[in-house]
Amino acid sequence: MERIFNFSAGPAILPAEVLQQARDEMLDWHGSGMSVMEMSHRGKEFMSIAAKVEADLRELAGIPDNYKVLFLSGGASSQFAMVPMNLLRGKKSADYVNTGEWSKKAIKEAKKYCAVNIAASSEDANFSYAPAQDKWVLDPAAAYVHYTPNETIGGVEFNWVPDLNSMVPLVADMSSSILSRPLDVTRFGLIYAGAQKNMGPAGLTIVIVREDLLGATMSGTPTMFDYKIHADNDSMYNTPPTYAMYIMGLVLEWLKRNGGLAVMEKVNIAKTGLLYDLFDTTDFYHCPVARSDRSRMNVPFTLKDAALDGAFLQQAQARGLIQLKGHRSVGGMRASIYNAMPIEGVAALLQFMREFASDHA
Ligand SMILES: *Cc1c(COP(=O)(O)O)cnc(C)c1O
Repeated sequence: MERIFNFSAGPAILPAEVLQQARDEMLDWHGSGMSVMEMSHRGKEFMSIAAKVEADLRELAGIPDNYKVLFLSGGASSQFAMVPMNLLRGKKSADYVNTGEWSKKAIKEAKKYCAVNIAASSEDANFSYAPAQDKWVLDPAAAYVHYTPNETIGGVEFNWVPDLNSMVPLVADMSSSILSRPLDVTRFGLIYAGAQKNMGPAGLTIVIVREDLLGATMSGTPTMFDYKIHADNDSMYNTPPTYAMYIMGLVLEWLKRNGGLAVMEKVNIAKTGLLYDLFDTTDFYHCPVARSDRSRMNVPFTLKDAALDGAFLQQAQARGLIQLKGHRSVGGMRASIYNAMPIEGVAALLQFMREFASDHA
């Protein structure tokens, strides 16, 4: 069996051990005689899987008891609407920081429900940096402040957590950076993330929300968009994405076996560092992101001569290095290097990039 190195931004690489375990348990989970896919979400087998996923996530991410963890579907994109519907709580405006494509989508959706104040934006420099907090202009009447800690497409990451020094909840779309480094949940009112980048398969969305923010949902909000309904029903108001939760559970066990988030952070710094060091020592490759705000998950870069893009991608693919094409909105290349990408994969990419550069010098 030959596994390629998959640099896809999402759905993305999963640890081989996790897939092997899922394979071994496919037809008969723990002597139940069933696949997890076939289980009732209210049966004792699946209830035990769900409880373990939540407990392991709470342990790994240090989620305090006064936060609810919700297992939803609808993708991070549904959260673009659910956040204002649930967190405006009678207020009429919200602050958004605009650092790229995902911020823009969140802003566009929020504008359906409230006035959006763009507290800061890096659009002036083609979304190549994270605006420093002393440049943010907050609306004193805003219900919450929303930002995107890691812009998956632009490869811009906040390497610091905004300090709002106030009662206004901080909301973060952590779809592509959750579990990549230690997390202080208490700094946030709400964190959301699609699972398919760094936690598991597509179809599952995680919401971590401070309890006191629940219960003042905008009137007219669909039942399925009300956090309180999901919280009161332990994410089983309707059928949750059971198999995706099970796989996420295996990923969390893998993370625990491998030292948790502090170790992941070190490894992620080392992995992306290999590429960033290369950019700093050659002018064949260029990374458009400000040095201090370079993502540890998604590394965008361009070749000196865009006419070589096709050959680069083709030769990379021939070596088992796939999904390196940049997002259609920005072009160039992008290597997504989530927790599950082994350092051997990044080393193989680095070796290829060095050779390609010297062949075309
Ligand atoms: C992928 C992504 C999304 C969209 O996620 P879906 O699950 O496809 O809705 C939103 N925000 C960020 C930061 C992402 O990386």
